[in-house]
Amino acid sequence: MTKPLVAILSGAGISTDSGIPDYRGPNGLWRRDPEAEKLVTYEYYMGDPEIRRRSWQMRRENRTLKAEPNVAHRAIVDLERSGVPLRVLTQNVDGLHQLAGLPARKVLELHGTAREVVCTNCHARGPMEDALARVETGEEDPPCLECGGILKSATVMFGERLDPMVLGEAVAIAKACQVFIAVGTTLQVQPAAGLAGVAGDHGARLIIVNAEPTPYDDRADEVIREPIGTGLPEFLHRLSSERT
Ligand code: ZN
Repeated sequence: MTKPLVAILSGAGISTDSGIPDYRGPNGLWRRDPEAEKLVTYEYYMGDPEIRRRSWQMRRENRTLKAEPNVAHRAIVDLERSGVPLRVLTQNVDGLHQLAGLPARKVLELHGTAREVVCTNCHARGPMEDALARVETGEEDPPCLECGGILKSATVMFGERLDPMVLGEAVAIAKACQVFIAVGTTLQVQPAAGLAGVAGDHGARLIIVNAEPTPYDDRADEVIREPIGTGLPEFLHRLSSERT
């Protein structure tokens, strides 16, 4: 018998214990500061070299790339290593699930990754670290080394569409899973909210681990209000012992 598939949707809340604040969420830092929001808005970024210069400076100072995974990221790795089939759908761009030890093929990054850059012209990709090293040595707006095009973080900026392939795969996982755990996300924005709904509609057990109420709490089989650092490991431990 195949073991039931567990899908874990993670949002900013899972990374706050790693020292990464919520940048992108509806009440995130970028949303509260129109000038900062411009630095990560596609139209402004593409249209204005000065915005790009400031955007690279902001990325230099950003703590995301220096952050370490925390106990919640590691608890998910433990569950995967115990043989439970699982997939992580993440709204985060910090790469901490993989850094904690989850195989990259198990992680679907809905908003891309801040650990890479991509050329807006030829779509060549490379490490963010290398681009930031170029900024460090005086290139204020480092162009693509392949074609000279405008380089950007490989994240989905405001004003950009999510990758339809990634989104399609996320929906398929939400439909197929038997357990759907939403952790550290308010489930107020798409696609996160939609994915929880799809999973619920297709009969998954819906678990919500979040400090604040979400619009799906009424539909959830279990709502865990405890801090993620204790609530998630406890729940996952319970889940894996259910299956033995
Ligand atoms: Zn290029």
